[in-house]
Amino acid sequence: MSVDPREPHRKPASQGSRIDPYVGAYAARAQGMVASEVRALFAVASRPEVVSLAGGMPNVSALPLEHIGEIVQQVVAEQGATALQYGSAQGDPVLREQICEVMGLEGIDAAADDVIVTVGSQQALDLVTRVFVDPGDVVLCEAPTYVTAINTFAAFQADIRHVGMDEDGVIPEALEETLVRLAAEGRRVKFFYTVPNFQNPAGVTLSAERRSRVQEICARHGLLVLEDNPYGLLRYEGEPIPALRADAPDNVIYLGSFSKTLSPGFRIGWALAPSSVRAKLVLAAESAMLSHSTFNQMVVGRYLSTHPWREQIKDFNEMYRERRDTMLTALDSLMPAGSTWTRPQGGFFVWATLPEGLDTKAMLPRAVNERVAYVPGTGFYASDEGRRSMRLSFCYPAPEQIREGIRRLVGVIKSETSLRDTFGGVSVASADGGNGPTPDLP
Ligand code: PMP
Repeated sequence: MSVDPREPHRKPASQGSRIDPYVGAYAARAQGMVASEVRALFAVASRPEVVSLAGGMPNVSALPLEHIGEIVQQVVAEQGATALQYGSAQGDPVLREQICEVMGLEGIDAAADDVIVTVGSQQALDLVTRVFVDPGDVVLCEAPTYVTAINTFAAFQADIRHVGMDEDGVIPEALEETLVRLAAEGRRVKFFYTVPNFQNPAGVTLSAERRSRVQEICARHGLLVLEDNPYGLLRYEGEPIPALRADAPDNVIYLGSFSKTLSPGFRIGWALAPSSVRAKLVLAAESAMLSHSTFNQMVVGRYLSTHPWREQIKDFNEMYRERRDTMLTALDSLMPAGSTWTRPQGGFFVWATLPEGLDTKAMLPRAVNERVAYVPGTGFYASDEGRRSMRLSFCYPAPEQIREGIRRLVGVIKSETSLRDTFGGVSVASADGGNGPTPDLP
């Protein structure tokens, strides 16, 4: 093993064992825990020569870092004794009041008592699933849906079923039909998980008209709605639509996050739930992590009370709008016939579907060779769907990189298309057969 010449006294990092002696000992639920396609991609896509249209990282470089540094110092100097102490599992009451103010922008009238702070909205997904889902219970999701939500539901051995979407979000008739079918089968459906604004990965938004129909259907079937809304304030055009929770306080668990409007580094999200559910979530949070980071909550709280955060979100929206426009213009002018893609009004993602016979997962190693990365569509389904689709994110790369990334991507798609045509309509790239694990990337 070589020693790093810059640090001659440092022990070389251990490689760790590759043999798993506990393979027969894991709980059944651990079988559902598999690395997501996005995670497998991060290592390769972060190489500087690769234009990554894969990750969903917000562009935090636009933040007022100096001001945040001052806030950190002030919290230590003025509130250190509290900030560096244990807190509660429900979260700082001051921050919970401020969170209610943020939710007010989405039409929600909430009491701070019904809010629980979470470690990103990801922890809220985990807690809600922990509290509601027994192995085999059905969880309904949009098709496609957020990959890490799938992983969370799978980790609790949920039976994940998808409901179709189009450019206006989930299709109410499909939701009704699925619920009727599952009731006839005697299946227990625990909740309907939806990302109504600028959905991850499809970029589409549930229309106002459909929101009331979805509410009506779920209420009639006694079905809880899990509304995950990390992107709602990142709107680049059109009028905001009130959250599902705004009209149905008893029927919806609403999840929010500061990850996209401030920074994912603080890991501060929240759930707003009917009081009885909130009490269960707090108990589940207590056993998961005892208490939140008091320090991070106080920094975020002070940011909200001392920085014009609404203006900051407007600045973010200007930046992201330009990136979205750049991606859509590049797709409009370069994508081959037979491809389709969504036109998000906000958020981070475009969902593109390629001509018949192409396979985005099998095509990925070739794309990375051509120095562009995306996320193949299959990762966003619990079933074997999404082979022709991909998620393209425009949040992180600069506009000129987005243009270059799409140019490279279209080059790969065109060469796949001509290979497909040469080999008689069978995608060469899908010659690996089934929907197996993510291929090893070069
Ligand atoms: N839900 C959705 C739809 C997301 O896209 C993300 C982040 N990619 C999350 C939840 C989790 O976000 P966080 O834990 O950072 O709040």
